[in-house]
Amino acid sequence: MYIETTYSALDYPGCMSLDIFFYGCDLRCKYCHNPELLQYHNITNLETLFKMIDENHDFFDAIVFTGGESLLHNQTILKIIKYTKKYNLRYKLDTNGLHPRRLRTIIKYLDYVALDVKAPLDKYYKITNRVPAYTCNKILETMRIIQKHGVFLECRTTYTSRLLSPEDVGEIMKSITCDQYTLQQYRNDVVYDVSIINAPSPNPYELEQILRKYNKDKKYTTYTKTSQLGVKKIL
Ligand code: SF4
Repeated sequence: MYIETTYSALDYPGCMSLDIFFYGCDLRCKYCHNPELLQYHNITNLETLFKMIDENHDFFDAIVFTGGESLLHNQTILKIIKYTKKYNLRYKLDTNGLHPRRLRTIIKYLDYVALDVKAPLDKYYKITNRVPAYTCNKILETMRIIQKHGVFLECRTTYTSRLLSPEDVGEIMKSITCDQYTLQQYRNDVVYDVSIINAPSPNPYELEQILRKYNKDKKYTTYTKTSQLGVKKIL
């Protein structure tokens, strides 16, 4: 079927979620934690997934579309949303932000988008050797679409001092607008590029210091969560 699933109590705040992992991604982030999902596979049959959802829908409140890059499968996501609407679920999308046109086809059904902002928008070469054309414009367009539709937007950056500096985080924070910004700890147990497998995982205190330093305009208030630190907009 080329779809993986798991249940999670962490991936949709306040909800138990069914996480659906899609195969394929146009980036090759050095720290990618799911390298086995990077090769694209077409999805031809959703019957097994629908049967599993029918049998277990009482167990979760939300579906999280993730991967890989989930928007490479926007038409499949649309089919899943239409099939599961009867269960009154919430829908969250994880994306690398490089597919605004595909996002438009499903944005009206989404409640939450987690958008990876991997580096300052003109410095993606720090994270991946494969930088698609117009990365900066596409990510900004993705942000605009999400905000225009009033969908909750979390921007996320995975941090290791081997690839990014605290100043890079400051640049990212200046260039985005979102409801929540999360700095994620780099984990070095499984990565795409083995040359960084020994790169240090930052401790939460280090991440907190970086966020405090660049949160000077008080646009955000800090919050903490397992292995992540973030700043959340004061509404
Ligand atoms: S971290 Fe995400 S965007 Fe980067 S290669 Fe892995 S799946 Fe793709």
